[in-house]
Formats: sequence, structure tokens, C-alpha cells
Amino acid sequence: MLPVINPATGQFIREVAEDTAESVRKKFLQAKEAQGPWAKQSLEERAAIVQRFRELIVERTESLAAITVSEVGKPITQSRNELKGLLGRIDFFLNNVGRVLAGREIAGSAAAGTEERITLEPLGVVGNISAWNYPYFVGSNVFVPALLTGNAVLYKPSEFATLTGLALADLWHEAGVPQNVFVLVVGGGAIGRLLVEQPLNGVFFTGSYATGCKVAEAAARHLMKVQLELGGKDPVYVTEDVDVQKAAESVADGAFYNCGQSCCAVERVYVHEKIYDAFVSAFVATAKNFVMGNPMDDKTYIGPLTRAEHLSVLEKQVADAMAKGAKLLCGGKRRLGPGNYFEPTVFTGVCGTMELMREETFGPLIGIEKVASDDEAARKMNDTAYGLTAGVYSKSRERAEGILAQINAGSVYWNCCDRVSPTLPWSGRGHSGTGSTLSESGIMAFVQPKAWHLRPASGG
Ligand code: NDP
Repeated sequence: MLPVINPATGQFIREVAEDTAESVRKKFLQAKEAQGPWAKQSLEERAAIVQRFRELIVERTESLAAITVSEVGKPITQSRNELKGLLGRIDFFLNNVGRVLAGREIAGSAAAGTEERITLEPLGVVGNISAWNYPYFVGSNVFVPALLTGNAVLYKPSEFATLTGLALADLWHEAGVPQNVFVLVVGGGAIGRLLVEQPLNGVFFTGSYATGCKVAEAAARHLMKVQLELGGKDPVYVTEDVDVQKAAESVADGAFYNCGQSCCAVERVYVHEKIYDAFVSAFVATAKNFVMGNPMDDKTYIGPLTRAEHLSVLEKQVADAMAKGAKLLCGGKRRLGPGNYFEPTVFTGVCGTMELMREETFGPLIGIEKVASDDEAARKMNDTAYGLTAGVYSKSRERAEGILAQINAGSVYWNCCDRVSPTLPWSGRGHSGTGSTLSESGIMAFVQPKAWHLRPASGG
């Protein structure tokens, strides 16, 4: 049995039955059986079911948000925001899937003697192994387009978002997706491993670099399609021409939203020396003003960390930064009492050899480093194995675009950060992963092309 614990209180919520090797195998075989008939339904029929799922999300936003708060600890306003944002993603897929899936004839090929055509077919049965930090977003990036394009989905939520996963499965089935077409696989990492051992047609994984490597290795045995959305060490550079207060507030939000537990959270801040002192004081004032507390309270901005064990990862980064000479301006420790709370923490005097400027932090802890030029900033921004996002704050679009063009990242931002759009591909480079979700690429990811060469029988 899998225990579900409330990260804000440490209290036990309930136990959920875990899958076993046998049940995972059985679920795979059932999904394989069910996928063909699902793919044979018309796109309109599948889209009507996805539309109904969307309506159920709207109807149940409040109760769904409360489930996520209870097990993930994400503040209620941020949990609601995630559900509202989910609607835009569903709409994008509904509005674009028909166009993307339309078959295509190669112009002039029939006249030349052999008609050539391309059609797109579903992959088959896909595994969707998901992270806990944005359970609706990262799950839906996969299961919505996968289902729309005719795949069956074996969905393994993180063990830290199991109740949200159960709720999602109920919604899909209530909306009309057959039981064996959207199938929940419940359990921890060992169950995720068993899932990838099945001969799936694709695995779509969201999680850490370390686990992503294990998933890719296991998937290689069946040569299935592998897509990995992994972590980041996302930098932001603030030039000297900005409105300091506004830039500091925006970057602080990017660093601390969802308690810093976002794949695209700002994890490193570089600031031009001319505004460094003013920026640091505005940033620290903003961080000190964030309300930390009960995640069910509308006023709370910083909730608990989802995983208790992560408190010691943050403590280790703090100790390493202190030992190497960084200056602690606020926070730096866990809050006494129940729950996995860690105070919003800001360091200056940091450098690229410190863990908090190299390893993914994934918590309310950030380092700010002074730079003397755009070239120095660009070099330091690129000094990472990750490549998810990067941002530049500047009045000058030309200057920002010039810097961002040099950065090796899947998404780049001018005067914004920590942002995902359904119309743009979401992809990482290096240790941040491979493949794209969202946008047209995020629909194409779930289909495979078939090339038709059609020549009428001669003399027939
Ligand atoms: P993990 O890598 O710990 O886990 C991700 C998923 O994989 C979970 O469902 C986990 O199960 C499962 N899992 C663990 N071990 C295995 C295994 N050997 N084989 C198959 N599956 C396994 O990541 P987290 O859930 O802690 O998520 C945080 C990470 O996700 C961060 O690095 C973050 O940056 C990244 N992320 C990336 C995003 C992106 O879009 N690029 C978006 C969101 C998060 P269980 O949890 O039950 O152990």
C-alpha cells in the first residue's frame, strides 16, 4: 500500500493500493487490446470526449485543486491557476489536432504515375510517467494529445500526486474514455520501472535527469519512442537599463512560485553591476514579503516542499554556499514545527562552483551574481549541463534577442520568465531532455507517418 501524507502537516491522509508486476503486465495487455477500437473511432468522437473532460475540469475545479493542495502542498490559488491554465492547453489541442493530423498528397505525384501520400497513425500504447509538481500540466501535455490522436495511455502519476492521478482517471472515464484506454498505474519508482519494461510504443517521461536516464536505458530494450522532459538550472540576466523594482518582483516570482518547485523556475540570477545593489535590495524585500503558511489559505504564496527529504538537499546547498563564502541575506533554514517548510532564501556573493549555481535546487533558494558585461552574462548563463529556459530583462529588445540567440536553451524569454505557452514547443536541451510537447510538435509526437506509394495496375 502507498501512504499519502499531507506535506503541510505531516499527517497521514490515506493509503492507496499499489500495482504489482502482474497487474502492470495485465494493464498493458488490456490497453493493447483496447487501443485499436479507440483509434478507429472518428477524431470528432474522441474530441467530444476530450471536450467533456474539459467541462468536468471546469465543474470540479475547486475540489480538484483541494486534492492537489492536500498531497502536493501547492497553495490553493496556484493549484486553481494550474487547472485554469489546463483549459487553454486542452483548447489548443482541440483546435489544432484536425489540421495537424490531416493526410497529405504529394502534389503532382499521381500525374507522374505513382500517387504518393502521407498519413499519420497513432503510436499505439504509450506510457506517461509524470512528476508531482504540476500534475495537471505535465500529465495533460501527454495524455490529451495522446488520446486525441488515438493512443491508449498508461498513466503513472508520481507517488506524491497519486490522489490527483486517481481523480484524473475518474474524470477521463466519466467523460467517456474506455477504462482500458486511459489506465492508471499506481506506485513509486519501482512501478515506473516495471511500466517501462513493457513493450510500449512510446514512453513520455517528466521528471529528473537521473531518472530520465534510467527510463531511456530501460526503453532502449524495446526501441520505443522516448521523450524526456527533465529539470533545469534556468538563468536570468538583468541588464542595467531596467525598472529595477518591476524586474526584481518578476524575477522573484519566477524563482519562488510553487515554492521554487517548477522545472522552469529561475534558478540563477545574474545582474549588471550598475544596478546590482538596488536590484538585490528590491529582490530581498520582495522575498521577505511572500506569505508562507497553510496552503489552503488564499493569502499563502509559499507552501511546504512536497517531499520532506528535499529539505536536506536545500540544507546541503546552503551549507556548501556558506562554506565557499556566499552571503546569506534571508532565510537559509527550515521552519520549526510540522510540515516541510523552508524559508525563502537569498544568497549573494555566489559563484559557478557552488552547488546552488550548478545543481537543480527545486526549492525556495536562489543565488544572485554580479556581472560586468553582456558577454560575461551570456557565458555564465551557458555554463550548465541543462538547457530548458533562459531570460533577459532589458529595455532593449535588440540587446535581449542578441544575448538570447547565444543561449543553448529550448525556451527563451524577454522581460518574463517561468512561462509555458500551449502554442510554442516545450523542449529541453542537454540534461533538460529530448523531444517537445505542446504546439504542433506536441501533437506530432504521438503519431507516426505512413508513406503510401500507389500505382494503378497497368493494363487493368
Ligand atoms: P523523479 O525523476 O523523481 O520522478 C519522475 C517520475 O518517475 C515519478 O512518477 C517517479 O515515481 C518515476 N520514477 C522514479 N524512478 C523510476 C524508474 N526507475 N523508472 C521509471 N519511473 C521512475 O522526478 P520528480 O517527480 O521528483 O519531479 C521533479 C523533477 O521533474 C525535477 O527535476 C523537475 O525539473 C522535473 N520536471 C520537468 C518538467 C519539464 O517540463 N521539463 C516539468 C516538471 C518537472 P515516484 O515519484 O513515485 O518515485
